[in-house]
Amino acid sequence: MNPGIVPQTIETIGVIGAGTMGHGIAQVAAGAGYKVLLRDVDRDSLARGIQAIERNLAKGIQLGKLTEDDRDSTLQHIRGTTKLLDVATADLIIEAAPEQLELKQEILRELETHSDQAFIFASNTSSLSITELARASERPQNVVGMHFFNPVHLMRLVEIVVGKATGDDTVEAVREVSRRLRKEPIVVRDVPGFASSRLGVALGLEAMRMLEQGVASAKDIDTAMELGYNHPMGPLKLTDHVGLDIRLNIAEYLFRELGSETFRPPEVLRRLVSEGKLGKKTGEGFYDWSDGSKQQTASSN
Ligand code: NAD
Repeated sequence: MNPGIVPQTIETIGVIGAGTMGHGIAQVAAGAGYKVLLRDVDRDSLARGIQAIERNLAKGIQLGKLTEDDRDSTLQHIRGTTKLLDVATADLIIEAAPEQLELKQEILRELETHSDQAFIFASNTSSLSITELARASERPQNVVGMHFFNPVHLMRLVEIVVGKATGDDTVEAVREVSRRLRKEPIVVRDVPGFASSRLGVALGLEAMRMLEQGVASAKDIDTAMELGYNHPMGPLKLTDHVGLDIRLNIAEYLFRELGSETFRPPEVLRRLVSEGKLGKKTGEGFYDWSDGSKQQTASSN
């Protein structure tokens, strides 16, 4: 295959990183019938990723969504490895390594050096620029974003992020793969926050400002969106699930990059984070999660 040409048919998908996102991507790709090469640097993380897939599949059988044959076929389609170069034979490589530009660029460079295949390289980054990532590549037209959501086997959206150099045939190829994975792809230009984070964070920050101004309680603000707009979860409850520290980081990043007041982190968010109230994971955020109940705790001033 000539370097620079997008693979005609995608049969093998390489997944880099077997963590929260990587194991989920490997599961849905194998479930759709692709051969999957799942690579993690760490043997234990790889084993944990495969165990998580087995648990998800067992749950699927329990719920009557999958058969035992589906489970066996999915697992047979996945080969785990700790060697990066085992993945270099894939037609599409989806990277879900930690969120560091230099690390992702290094993985891309190393794969290109050791492969004569013109694979597509798709990054699952939630915030890094695809254009910047592609600067490390000899074939930037083959570099694209495929932003999946957690948990991957349940969430239907894939944001396809188009960098400055990304080729149209690359976008078409990953759009087709996304559909085969039973996801709904949307195509987004490579801008900070893409479409999903920018809109989701804007709503969350406005809900916090409303709480600060005493417009309504946290619970009532959430209920407005849940019952008035059919959101499955209100923006403050969602922030508790995601983690207030993570939301604050994204807000600071978007405020810096987009320069819009919309993304200036509200005081209540800074205060709760400085008090260690990071949401569900610490037992308290906008709600009290300590006993599994959702008592409202954040004050409006
Ligand atoms: P994670 O920490 O759960 O998993 C990362 C895995 O990568 C770990 O198992 C680690 O051992 C492995 N790893 C580290 N260096 C590696 C290398 N050189 N090669 C292969 N594997 C390596 O992280 P995650 O939450 O799955 O996030 C992965 C990517 O997905 C990040 O870019 C993140 O921004 C993005 N993302 C995360 C979420 C989420 O909700 N967690 C959602 C969308 C996108």
